[in-house]
Amino acid sequence: MTYPFGAVVGMDDMRLALLLNAVSPAIGGVLVRGEKGTAKSTTVRALAAVLPPVAVVPGCRFACDPAAPDPACPDGPHEPGAPAQTRPARLVELPVGASEDRVVGSLDLERALTEGVKAFEPGLLAAAHRGVLYVDEVNLLHDHLVDLLLDAAALGTAYVEREGVSVRHAARFLLVGTMNPEEGELRPQLLDRFGLTVEVAAPRDPAVRAEVVRRRFAYDADPAGFAAAWAGEEAALAERIAGARARLPHVVLSDAALQQVTAVCAAFDVDGLRADLVTARAAVAHAAWAGRDEVTEDDVRVAARLALPHRRRRNPFDAPGLDDDTLDQALEDSRPEPGPDEDPPPPPDGPDDDGGGAPPPRDDTPRADGDPSPAEEGRSRDDGPPDEGEGRGGAPAGERAAVAPSDPFRARRLEVPGVGAGAAGRRSKARAERGRVVGSVRPNGPVTRLHLVGTVLAAAPHQTARGRTGPGLRVAREDLRQATLEGREGNLVLFVVDASGSMGSRARMGAVKGAVLSLLLDAYQRRDKVGLVTFRGADAGLALPPTWSVEAAAARLRELPTGGRTPLAAGLLRAADTLRVERVRDPQRRPLLVVVTDGRATGPRGTDALGAAHAAAQRLAADGTAAVVVDCESGPVRLGLAGVLGAHLGAQTLRLEELAAESLAATVRSVREAA
Ligand SMILES: [Zn+2]
Repeated sequence: MTYPFGAVVGMDDMRLALLLNAVSPAIGGVLVRGEKGTAKSTTVRALAAVLPPVAVVPGCRFACDPAAPDPACPDGPHEPGAPAQTRPARLVELPVGASEDRVVGSLDLERALTEGVKAFEPGLLAAAHRGVLYVDEVNLLHDHLVDLLLDAAALGTAYVEREGVSVRHAARFLLVGTMNPEEGELRPQLLDRFGLTVEVAAPRDPAVRAEVVRRRFAYDADPAGFAAAWAGEEAALAERIAGARARLPHVVLSDAALQQVTAVCAAFDVDGLRADLVTARAAVAHAAWAGRDEVTEDDVRVAARLALPHRRRRNPFDAPGLDDDTLDQALEDSRPEPGPDEDPPPPPDGPDDDGGGAPPPRDDTPRADGDPSPAEEGRSRDDGPPDEGEGRGGAPAGERAAVAPSDPFRARRLEVPGVGAGAAGRRSKARAERGRVVGSVRPNGPVTRLHLVGTVLAAAPHQTARGRTGPGLRVAREDLRQATLEGREGNLVLFVVDASGSMGSRARMGAVKGAVLSLLLDAYQRRDKVGLVTFRGADAGLALPPTWSVEAAAARLRELPTGGRTPLAAGLLRAADTLRVERVRDPQRRPLLVVVTDGRATGPRGTDALGAAHAAAQRLAADGTAAVVVDCESGPVRLGLAGVLGAHLGAQTLRLEELAAESLAATVRSVREAA
């Protein structure tokens, strides 16, 4: 028994975005961003019940429409005029850990080879055809699967190919993804392929909050009774969706309305024409939803608010958002003005258009009614308020301002030695579902990637015994060999950063922060989890527990104050504790410790701070923790203590300057020249 869609309180943008897609699936799906506990999933799951039912060919596993069956249907061909069966629209959930076979379906290679039969087991894409495909935590889904989904959603077709055997079938569905941005962002190139995005937050109005709780209590106490009480509301919604769908083809998008769409897209500096198309489609759907036959300015405004926030050019660490004032201005400027003395609209003010290299505009100032989260505060501090422009304005007066990081660079790939078995990523070598073929084994379950040479070699000795006379090889099931693949995994990159006074000048600390920021950007691209331990003064702290949110890590780093004593041992022990907990929580994810230090350690008089640090390092090495020491020592006289620490850790030691990807080539060159 799902919670009724009509009973969801608040979440107005989200509900509207879902309904518009239900009216016009061509809009391209919805991405919902918001923290935990905002009923995102409840709302999505409730949608299926208000979607119009679908007519299907009985027995077809691919949900063919009897009026227009898929000519390529693997269960076809279907007789024209076959009996129809009506069933509710389906909502299919795609779990984050799903394999590619589970998503697109699997071909039975064993039967193909031994019996010559093309046997296809449909996947989730087939199940979702003509319904809703829902991915919770879509930001944690592997890139490759997200690509598959978005391709299928765009083409309306799923395609599976294994060793030359292929199957194609229709897969048109409303794609809905939900995510918690604190657990990591979706890469921008995937973000913009969702038609609409909405941000959700818990309602702030106490009366609304109370109503949420009241309804939830009523539902939990008696789900069936609650659903019955809302049945009328649900039926009305379903009817309104069906009505809007019928109206949709007749809605007129006038030239004037289209001009407003393009003007708004231009005002927000979005890439490509997709934004204009999606905005136009959403505006048309909104008009149909509102029962109008013509698109109005209000439709364009609503559509822009849902279609544009995630399409603006931005850095990976910028949060989506759309400034209402800019939107109002763009709509007003592009409004067709009736009257005799018609002036051309004034050109938009601002810097030269398409000036090469000019930074993208930053007008995503927080809305007055929103309370900025700590991460947002960190971001806006970094960007600076629009009026104050440059500088690190925003740090409270009187408090020692944190040193700003220097500009990030492209970091070289640091990796964990050996071959892991962690979740797919782009850092260290791992056994994987995709990648380079490195060998063959007897399959442990159905064969998904056939190793041809291995299979032939296994079959060869048995040919006489099997009575082979002609040219063909006689292959039996037990001959089949599965290819083993080596790809890359993501890791947990735990930074241990010395923030003490020993790190020298502010400029040096800026360079150190810049280097760690560069490594964080690199971790974001390699799908790593990251964590941050810092030490200074009396103790070490876990500034950021392991998270997917590189954005949060960057914010903590920027705010990190520096100075004081250097408790290196405490920092390393804190790291060891953190890794111990993570090993229980996520045992397959191998950690990489990145210790950013000059190798010095100080403590209260009479203690051997350096000896304690080296003992802690040895303990980490004994646990088998892979580590890299980034040597931050500078100045004419060098002690080389970071190298000593690296030796105790069993780690590679790199100088800060060697972290850039470019410097690797330079290092190789200098080594060659010296030889
Ligand atoms: Zn079919």
